[in-house]
Amino acid sequence: MDFEGADEFSEKREHMVADLIANGYLRSERIIKVFLEVPRHAFVGEANERFGYADYPMPIPGGQTISAPHMVACMTELLEPKKTDKVLEIGAGSGYQAAILSRLVKKVYTVEIDEQLAAFARANLNRVGVKNVQVVAADGSQGYAKAKPYDKVIVTCATPEIFAPWLKQLKTGGLLIAPVGVGFYQELTRIRKKSKGLESQNFGGCVFVPLRR
Ligand code: SAH
Repeated sequence: MDFEGADEFSEKREHMVADLIANGYLRSERIIKVFLEVPRHAFVGEANERFGYADYPMPIPGGQTISAPHMVACMTELLEPKKTDKVLEIGAGSGYQAAILSRLVKKVYTVEIDEQLAAFARANLNRVGVKNVQVVAADGSQGYAKAKPYDKVIVTCATPEIFAPWLKQLKTGGLLIAPVGVGFYQELTRIRKKSKGLESQNFGGCVFVPLRR
Protein backbone atom coordinates (compact mmCIF):
# COMPACT_ATOMS: atom_id res chain seq x y z
CA MET A 1 0.00 0.00 0.00
CA ASP A 2 1.27 3.45 -0.82
CA PHE A 3 1.37 5.13 2.56
CA GLU A 4 2.16 8.62 1.29
CA GLY A 5 -0.04 9.11 -1.71
CA ALA A 6 -3.69 9.11 -2.61
CA ASP A 7 -5.72 5.91 -2.41
CA GLU A 8 -9.35 4.99 -3.05
CA PHE A 9 -10.25 6.21 0.46
CA SER A 10 -8.49 9.60 0.32
CA GLU A 11 -11.71 11.53 0.01
CA LYS A 12 -13.31 9.78 2.98
CA ARG A 13 -10.18 10.39 4.99
CA GLU A 14 -10.26 14.10 4.11
CA HIS A 15 -13.87 14.29 5.28
CA MET A 16 -13.03 12.55 8.54
CA VAL A 17 -10.20 15.01 9.17
CA ALA A 18 -12.32 18.03 8.24
CA ASP A 19 -14.95 16.91 10.80
CA LEU A 20 -12.31 16.32 13.48
CA ILE A 21 -10.99 19.85 12.90
CA ALA A 22 -14.47 21.41 12.82
CA ASN A 23 -15.34 19.71 16.11
CA GLY A 24 -12.14 20.86 17.78
CA TYR A 25 -10.53 17.45 18.20
CA LEU A 26 -7.63 18.12 15.82
CA ARG A 27 -5.69 21.36 16.24
CA SER A 28 -1.98 20.91 15.52
CA GLU A 29 -0.77 21.14 11.95
CA ARG A 30 1.65 18.21 12.32
CA ILE A 31 -1.07 15.97 13.73
CA ILE A 32 -3.60 16.97 11.06
CA LYS A 33 -1.07 16.07 8.36
CA VAL A 34 -0.55 12.62 9.86
CA PHE A 35 -4.29 11.95 10.13
CA LEU A 36 -4.51 12.72 6.42
CA GLU A 37 -1.69 10.30 5.65
CA VAL A 38 -2.39 7.21 7.77
CA PRO A 39 -4.91 4.90 6.04
CA ARG A 40 -7.29 3.98 8.90
CA HIS A 41 -9.09 1.50 6.65
CA ALA A 42 -5.96 -0.68 6.79
CA PHE A 43 -6.47 -1.15 10.54
CA VAL A 44 -10.10 -2.30 10.72
CA GLY A 45 -9.82 -5.66 8.91
CA GLU A 46 -10.53 -6.18 5.23
CA ALA A 47 -14.25 -6.88 5.66
CA ASN A 48 -14.78 -3.49 7.31
CA GLU A 49 -12.51 -1.33 5.16
CA ARG A 50 -15.34 0.75 3.76
CA PHE A 51 -16.38 1.76 7.30
CA GLY A 52 -12.85 2.79 8.19
CA TYR A 53 -13.54 6.53 8.30
CA ALA A 54 -16.74 6.71 10.34
CA ASP A 55 -16.29 8.39 13.71
CA TYR A 56 -17.12 5.51 16.00
CA PRO A 57 -15.23 2.61 17.57
CA MET A 58 -15.18 -0.57 15.48
CA PRO A 59 -14.84 -4.24 16.37
CA ILE A 60 -11.43 -5.84 15.87
CA PRO A 61 -10.49 -9.48 16.69
CA GLY A 62 -10.73 -10.82 20.23
CA GLY A 63 -13.87 -8.82 21.11
CA GLN A 64 -11.82 -5.60 21.28
CA THR A 65 -12.32 -2.26 19.51
CA ILE A 66 -10.31 0.29 17.56
CA SER A 67 -11.00 3.63 19.25
CA ALA A 68 -13.13 6.20 17.44
CA PRO A 69 -11.10 8.70 15.37
CA HIS A 70 -12.10 11.64 17.63
CA MET A 71 -10.72 9.77 20.67
CA VAL A 72 -7.43 9.00 18.88
CA ALA A 73 -7.26 12.66 17.82
CA CYS A 74 -7.96 13.91 21.33
CA MET A 75 -5.39 11.62 22.98
CA THR A 76 -2.76 12.36 20.34
CA GLU A 77 -3.15 16.12 20.90
CA LEU A 78 -3.00 15.70 24.70
CA LEU A 79 0.20 13.69 24.39
CA GLU A 80 1.99 16.69 22.79
CA PRO A 81 4.13 14.41 20.59
CA LYS A 82 7.66 15.58 19.78
CA LYS A 83 9.99 14.28 17.05
CA THR A 84 12.49 13.08 19.66
CA ASP A 85 9.96 11.24 21.89
CA LYS A 86 10.07 7.58 22.82
CA VAL A 87 6.51 6.52 23.58
CA LEU A 88 5.01 3.55 25.42
CA GLU A 89 1.46 2.54 24.48
CA ILE A 90 -0.59 0.07 26.51
CA GLY A 91 -3.13 -1.72 24.27
CA ALA A 92 -1.92 -2.04 20.67
CA GLY A 93 -5.30 -3.29 19.42
CA SER A 94 -5.35 -2.61 15.68
CA GLY A 95 -2.08 -0.64 15.74
CA TYR A 96 -3.78 2.54 14.42
CA GLN A 97 -2.93 4.79 17.37
CA ALA A 98 0.66 3.54 17.19
CA ALA A 99 0.76 4.23 13.44
CA ILE A 100 -0.41 7.81 14.02
CA LEU A 101 2.23 8.31 16.71
CA SER A 102 4.95 6.67 14.60
CA ARG A 103 4.94 9.65 12.25
CA LEU A 104 5.08 12.19 15.08
CA VAL A 105 7.71 10.69 17.37
CA LYS A 106 10.99 8.77 17.14
CA LYS A 107 9.92 5.34 18.41
CA VAL A 108 6.79 3.65 19.77
CA TYR A 109 6.66 0.53 21.92
CA THR A 110 3.13 -0.83 22.11
CA VAL A 111 2.20 -3.61 24.51
CA GLU A 112 -0.75 -5.93 23.78
CA ILE A 113 -1.95 -8.71 26.10
CA ASP A 114 -3.80 -10.67 23.38
CA GLU A 115 -1.30 -12.47 21.15
CA GLN A 116 -3.74 -12.71 18.26
CA LEU A 117 -4.20 -8.93 18.40
CA ALA A 118 -0.46 -8.32 18.69
CA ALA A 119 -0.12 -10.25 15.41
CA PHE A 120 -3.03 -8.26 13.90
CA ALA A 121 -1.37 -4.96 14.87
CA ARG A 122 1.99 -6.10 13.49
CA ALA A 123 0.41 -7.16 10.19
CA ASN A 124 -1.47 -3.86 9.83
CA LEU A 125 1.63 -1.80 10.62
CA ASN A 126 3.71 -3.82 8.15
CA ARG A 127 1.07 -3.38 5.50
CA VAL A 128 1.38 0.40 5.65
CA GLY A 129 5.18 0.27 5.95
CA VAL A 130 5.58 1.54 9.54
CA LYS A 131 9.07 0.69 10.78
CA ASN A 132 9.51 2.49 14.11
CA VAL A 133 6.83 0.68 16.12
CA GLN A 134 7.63 -2.42 18.15
CA VAL A 135 4.61 -4.52 19.18
CA VAL A 136 5.24 -6.46 22.39
CA ALA A 137 2.87 -9.29 23.40
CA ALA A 138 2.67 -8.98 27.21
CA ASP A 139 0.63 -7.66 30.12
CA GLY A 140 0.97 -3.90 29.83
CA SER A 141 0.08 -3.20 33.46
CA GLN A 142 3.79 -3.79 34.06
CA GLY A 143 4.75 -1.30 31.34
CA TYR A 144 7.77 -2.38 29.29
CA ALA A 145 10.88 -1.99 31.39
CA LYS A 146 13.28 -3.14 28.65
CA ALA A 147 13.01 0.11 26.68
CA LYS A 148 12.55 2.61 29.54
CA PRO A 149 12.61 5.51 30.17
CA TYR A 150 9.78 6.96 28.06
CA ASP A 151 8.98 10.57 27.27
CA LYS A 152 5.27 9.72 27.04
CA VAL A 153 2.96 6.88 28.08
CA ILE A 154 -0.48 6.41 26.48
CA VAL A 155 -2.93 3.87 27.88
CA THR A 156 -5.72 2.91 25.47
CA CYS A 157 -7.71 0.52 27.68
CA ALA A 158 -9.80 1.47 30.72
CA THR A 159 -7.59 1.14 33.75
CA PRO A 160 -8.67 0.95 37.40
CA GLU A 161 -5.51 2.79 38.47
CA ILE A 162 -2.26 4.32 37.26
CA PHE A 163 0.04 1.36 37.76
CA ALA A 164 3.34 2.16 39.46
CA PRO A 165 5.59 0.76 36.65
CA TRP A 166 4.09 3.28 34.17
CA LEU A 167 5.15 6.23 36.31
CA LYS A 168 8.46 4.62 37.14
CA GLN A 169 9.27 4.10 33.46
CA LEU A 170 8.25 7.68 32.58
CA LYS A 171 10.92 10.41 32.43
CA THR A 172 10.68 13.37 34.76
CA GLY A 173 8.83 16.05 32.79
CA GLY A 174 7.05 13.34 30.82
CA LEU A 175 3.32 12.93 30.19
CA LEU A 176 1.02 9.96 30.77
CA ILE A 177 -2.52 9.81 29.45
CA ALA A 178 -5.05 7.17 30.46
CA PRO A 179 -8.80 6.50 30.73
CA VAL A 180 -9.12 5.89 34.47
CA GLY A 181 -12.13 4.10 35.95
CA VAL A 182 -13.77 0.73 36.51
CA GLY A 183 -17.34 1.36 35.36
CA PHE A 184 -18.73 1.83 31.86
CA TYR A 185 -17.31 5.36 31.77
CA GLN A 186 -13.81 6.49 32.57
CA GLU A 187 -12.17 9.85 33.13
CA LEU A 188 -9.59 10.80 30.54
CA THR A 189 -6.68 11.75 32.78
CA ARG A 190 -3.34 13.34 31.96
CA ILE A 191 -0.48 13.22 34.43
CA ARG A 192 2.74 15.18 34.23
CA LYS A 193 5.62 13.71 36.19
CA LYS A 194 7.37 16.61 37.91
CA SER A 195 10.69 16.51 39.73
CA LYS A 196 8.59 16.74 42.87
CA GLY A 197 5.33 14.84 42.58
CA LEU A 198 2.63 14.54 39.93
CA GLU A 199 0.30 17.05 38.30
CA SER A 200 -3.03 15.57 37.23
CA GLN A 201 -5.60 17.03 34.81
CA ASN A 202 -9.01 15.65 33.91
CA PHE A 203 -10.37 15.88 30.36
CA GLY A 204 -13.86 14.47 30.84
CA GLY A 205 -15.66 11.20 30.28
CA CYS A 206 -14.76 8.51 27.76
CA VAL A 207 -15.49 4.83 27.09
CA PHE A 208 -12.76 2.22 26.54
CA VAL A 209 -12.62 -1.59 26.71
CA PRO A 210 -11.19 -2.68 30.06
CA LEU A 211 -7.60 -3.55 30.83
CA ARG A 212 -7.34 -7.29 31.43
CA ARG A 213 -4.75 -9.23 33.43
N1 SAH B 1 -4.98 1.57 20.64
C1 SAH B 1 -5.80 0.59 19.96
C2 SAH B 1 -7.14 0.36 20.62
C3 SAH B 1 -6.97 -0.41 21.84
S1 SAH B 1 -8.39 -1.28 22.43
C4 SAH B 1 -6.00 0.96 18.51
O1 SAH B 1 -5.48 1.98 18.04
O2 SAH B 1 -6.64 0.18 17.81
C5 SAH B 1 -7.66 -1.82 23.95
C6 SAH B 1 -6.62 -2.88 23.79
O3 SAH B 1 -6.01 -3.09 25.06
C7 SAH B 1 -7.19 -4.23 23.37
O4 SAH B 1 -6.53 -4.64 22.22
C8 SAH B 1 -6.88 -5.14 24.55
O5 SAH B 1 -6.58 -6.47 24.17
C9 SAH B 1 -5.67 -4.46 25.16
N2 SAH B 1 -5.39 -4.79 26.55
C10 SAH B 1 -6.27 -5.05 27.54
N3 SAH B 1 -5.62 -5.31 28.69
C11 SAH B 1 -4.29 -5.19 28.42
C12 SAH B 1 -3.11 -5.33 29.20
N4 SAH B 1 -3.14 -5.65 30.50
N5 SAH B 1 -1.92 -5.13 28.60
C13 SAH B 1 -1.84 -4.81 27.28
N6 SAH B 1 -2.93 -4.67 26.49
C14 SAH B 1 -4.14 -4.85 27.06
